[in-house]
Amino acid sequence: MEELSHYINGEHVKGTSGRFADVYNPATGEVQAKVPLATVEELNEAVAKAAEAQRGWGATNPQRRARVMMKFGALINEHMDELAELVSREHGKTLPDGRGDVQRGLEVVEVCMGAPSLLKGEFTDSGGPGIDLYSMRQPLGVVAGITPFNFPAMIPLWKMAPALSCGNAMILKPSERCPSTSLRLAELLKEAGLPDGVLQVVNGDKEVVDAILDNETIQAVGFVGSTPIAQYIYGRAATNGKRAQCFGGAKNHMIIMPDADMDKAADALVGAGFGAAGERCMAISVAVPVGQKTADTLIEKLVPRIEKLKVGPYTAGEDVDYGPVITAQAKNRILGLIDSGVDQGADLVIDGRGFALQGYEDGYFVGPSLFDKVTPEMDIYKEEIFGPVLSQVRTDSYEEALKLTMDNPYGNGTAIYTADGDTARDFANRVNVGMVGINFPIPVPLSYHTFGGWKKSAFGDLNQYGPDAFRFYTKTKTVTARWFSGIKEGGEFNFKAMD
Ligand code: NAD
Repeated sequence: MEELSHYINGEHVKGTSGRFADVYNPATGEVQAKVPLATVEELNEAVAKAAEAQRGWGATNPQRRARVMMKFGALINEHMDELAELVSREHGKTLPDGRGDVQRGLEVVEVCMGAPSLLKGEFTDSGGPGIDLYSMRQPLGVVAGITPFNFPAMIPLWKMAPALSCGNAMILKPSERCPSTSLRLAELLKEAGLPDGVLQVVNGDKEVVDAILDNETIQAVGFVGSTPIAQYIYGRAATNGKRAQCFGGAKNHMIIMPDADMDKAADALVGAGFGAAGERCMAISVAVPVGQKTADTLIEKLVPRIEKLKVGPYTAGEDVDYGPVITAQAKNRILGLIDSGVDQGADLVIDGRGFALQGYEDGYFVGPSLFDKVTPEMDIYKEEIFGPVLSQVRTDSYEEALKLTMDNPYGNGTAIYTADGDTARDFANRVNVGMVGINFPIPVPLSYHTFGGWKKSAFGDLNQYGPDAFRFYTKTKTVTARWFSGIKEGGEFNFKAMD
């Protein structure tokens, strides 16, 4: 049994707590590794060393830091297949999806290669006689990233690349379900020239997360995960005086107008609803057709597409559409929610509960499920299912569909399919959701924009990556400087108002 480690001061370090979490192969249900769960002492020691390392790294000029990102980007490209396989091995997603996970993280590293221009300050020449003002962005010191299981490469990269480019040191606490990709990325960063101690990967569970939140040296916490934990972490970090941005769960609606291209809408729903087994915070889990005819047509178009989906292990190659869910508990929770949908009166058009794959009977596979006639009171509507389950909620008007989306407590992503620019513009302007797709099902913004939801999908200020990340990971200092006229004109000693 492989025993994983922490990555401290540029090397792998065994855990000392004697506590471990099992890392499963979700396709077979076997435990493939054990990951150590750090103690408070291990965390505090890693933070103290990070603080020492940060002093030199923060004083390194931004361009030299950016060169580390350039090499890091090149190494990620070189190791793309290896990293994608690491992702798929622990998460279960298909290899093309694993590559996508690495690629969307790499794109943030690419933006960080231009960090010096994003870190430039502001300057006011002659704010008063002989007086100049300038504002500069300085690193925070030691910051922490706490990440979820569902994007083992992308989200750690969204955290580490901007934080390090800004001159901070980072404590990264990856998901204990999928820790290996973060450990490998830390090795590649060392190879790219990052000084030892600037990125410390500390594995663990709630015990180490709480230690991060209470550690006085850590200045900021960037979290991604489920909403209850995001809200908890935001509260405790903020109470302890830390800067915090905590991104949570989602329930993403796609509105389908009667004038939409129904084939394209159905294709989009199948990809966005069932890709990665629905384990994406930007998955579309609710289809909201406008009009009964639109709803009937959509079901007609969805059924054959969903029935064709191929579910299997990533090792089966590129021919698989999606893999298993992450754990036995996740599978049982999803099956329980499907049961509740049936009990509460929704129409189960396609039932994924009985799915079995020969040779993988102990894997955590769930077949695709499609519900029609779902209503907002049902648990399958209220809960983030985080599985391969698509719910259709029928509406009679655009306003009703918009209201449904806006009344939902989550606000991560949403989409509208329509041929009418006026409706699309109205939707984009009025909807209270952070990321909007127009004839685009998973509107994850490109890396030079920013990523973040509204409502219960995010707590705190500023978004992830793009210009917001450079604001989050730096603090502004403003200097007002006066140079008296002296040698040039003779002394001037009276205190004068600016005029
Ligand atoms: P999770 O909340 O269970 O875990 C996230 C992190 O928090 C992990 O590192 C975990 O170790 C830690 N954690 C778990 N329980 C904790 C506790 N009680 N106290 C302190 N720390 C704890 O989330 P997950 O299951 O790994 O990820 C799936 C969730 O993440 C979904 O809800 C999904 O929507 C969300 N997500 C959101 C975004 C976004 O950007 N909004 C992106 C990806 C995933």
